[in-house]
Amino acid sequence: MSALILIVEDEKNIVDILNFNLRREGYDTLEAFDGRTGLQLALEKNPDLILLDLMLPQLDGYEVCRQIREAGSSIPILILTAREDEDDKVKGLELGADDYITKPFSVRELLARVKTNIRRSAMITESADDTDALRFGTLSIDTAGYTVFKDGKPLELTAREFELLKFLAAHAGTVFSREALMEQVWNYEYAGDARTVDVTIRRLREKVEDTPAHPIYILTRRGVGYLFAGQ
Ligand code: CA
Repeated sequence: MSALILIVEDEKNIVDILNFNLRREGYDTLEAFDGRTGLQLALEKNPDLILLDLMLPQLDGYEVCRQIREAGSSIPILILTAREDEDDKVKGLELGADDYITKPFSVRELLARVKTNIRRSAMITESADDTDALRFGTLSIDTAGYTVFKDGKPLELTAREFELLKFLAAHAGTVFSREALMEQVWNYEYAGDARTVDVTIRRLREKVEDTPAHPIYILTRRGVGYLFAGQ
């Protein structure tokens, strides 16, 4: 069964390029030329990945992303941004996107990102033989069910947030640099783009910690990186 990719982009020529290349790689595609249709298709068709432009008619990409996450969906979202502006990317990641790529992008790079994000999401869904749960205080990370519970209540984490938390918790007490986390959790290197890690850590803290400004689980070692405090 081929993976279904939803393309939400208002520039027809970009949609054509994406459609052509994704189909040639064996993916099925769906397209939406405005944010409202994109959101509707994302929720109704449950695609395996969403390529999401930011500047869209009717509903912008940020809002589409926010509403998809608000609906409890953890579909991988890859943002297509026309800008080099770091703040745009960070805002997208804060709203729950998994990854982004800057336009103009190389088709090869885009296909690599698509593949990585779909594979990660599938790996997490299929890792059901892994029956252990990691427990720390009020936190329980169910690696088989791909769910994190806090005080017995499930948290809504994106695939990437879950994987980052699981990785840190599985190596509790060990400090990892941003670069190491990029390699381990994102599976590829962003040259110098450590803010992606920082933003994902911040989002995780908001969900996991009682007081995100004074975390007790996900700690910062200034100038070095992050660690999960196990005991
Ligand atoms: Ca646009």
